[in-house]
Amino acid sequence: MKVVIVGAGHAGGSAAALLKASAFEGEIVLLGDEPALPYQRPPLSKAWLKGEADLESLLLRPESYYAEQGITLRTGVVVSAVSPAARTVTLSDGSVETYDTLILATGSTGRRLPIPGADRSELIELRTLADAERLKGQLGPGRRLVIVGGGYVGLEAAASARALGAEVVLLERLDRVLKRVASEPLSAFFTARHRAEGVDIRLDVEVAAFEDGGVRLADGTLVEADVILVGVGALANDGLARAAGLACDPAGSGGIVVDETARTSDPSIYAIGDVTVRPVPVHGLTLRLESVPNALEQARQAAHAIVGRAQVAPEVPWFWSDQYDLKLQIAGLPQAADRTVVRGDPATGRFAVFHLCEDRIVCVEAVNAPPEFMAGKQMIGRRTPVDVAKLTDLAVSMKAVAL
Ligand code: FAD
Repeated sequence: MKVVIVGAGHAGGSAAALLKASAFEGEIVLLGDEPALPYQRPPLSKAWLKGEADLESLLLRPESYYAEQGITLRTGVVVSAVSPAARTVTLSDGSVETYDTLILATGSTGRRLPIPGADRSELIELRTLADAERLKGQLGPGRRLVIVGGGYVGLEAAASARALGAEVVLLERLDRVLKRVASEPLSAFFTARHRAEGVDIRLDVEVAAFEDGGVRLADGTLVEADVILVGVGALANDGLARAAGLACDPAGSGGIVVDETARTSDPSIYAIGDVTVRPVPVHGLTLRLESVPNALEQARQAAHAIVGRAQVAPEVPWFWSDQYDLKLQIAGLPQAADRTVVRGDPATGRFAVFHLCEDRIVCVEAVNAPPEFMAGKQMIGRRTPVDVAKLTDLAVSMKAVAL
């Protein structure tokens, strides 16, 4: 039995290790187009960018691990085609690798704005270690970074760039940062904190073009920049799967359609991580998630399915973000909510926003509030009704609320 994994990122690297941990006896071939060993991306916009983490600490596992475990890891190789009929993958150097089972773990790529200059080579997107090295090399006192997009990566990069002494302007076309992913109180809180740290956040601005010297807005203003970071969302790297005839989502940001065991429309092919559109049973939704916990959960689903081990209970989706001394932790999905309630006072720097559907919590956004995150996550998974009066009363512990 031979398993080939395409994409040596967080999901692919973890799937190889989880197969080994599940006593898989066959051959594992892990193919990745980046030169680096499988590594974690979250620190690229946080600790690593600020210089607080070294390369070694980014690696999922040390170099010796792969040889010790008998995993064939090939970095710097691009898979250019998959043939489900022949059960082969073709590499861009023309070589062919056969498989019994294939795992596609190709991740996602930054969305490109459809405006003049969007292909300029000096623009940076923060997806890979190489991108992060390029960005870090250009930041420092006296340098002006302009960030296009007020999502998590943009905000984290803003905080790290301020720590490095750079001037930062952040341009967001919507009326608040994090609008697609977080509640209004959270957006207001992070906007205020970034502004207090000296980040020039400009909302409701339309970027019209990238030019020599900076970013041209639709109203004609040129926002001068030494460095430009574009973080406007990501698209699933599902091209190989589409060309191979696997079911993919034709809408939105794409994605390979998988079931609760990470299996695609071809029973010999699994897909895991950012590249998938997956069922989220806790919420009764099917969607694409971009997070480390999602990559790990699906890597485990695929490994268990391949070795015939029982699946574990589905997880509540969760995510985190670090900015300045703030730790944001989010569990659940807000889609089904009909109202929000806030526990604690944002002015104290420690609070949580709970999204409710009738009397159940469906999502919690916790800032410097681990007990609220932990208890909220537990209650989302258990689908237990919550007493809102207790939930918003700081005198009642989260343990007592969750009882
Ligand atoms: P990736 O880790 O992107 O790996 C996919 C790999 O496949 C890449 O190396 C890619 O180059 C390779 N590949 C693609 N096509 C081919 C091909 N044809 N042939 C060979 N190789 C190929 N998540 C959190 O939960 N918390 C965070 O705080 C957080 N912060 C983040 C900060 C940044 C800057 C970024 C970029 C992401 C962050 N994420 C965070 C998201 C998280 O890192 C991703 O969800 C996770 O890496 C997804 O894993 P993956 O294996 O699906 O994709």
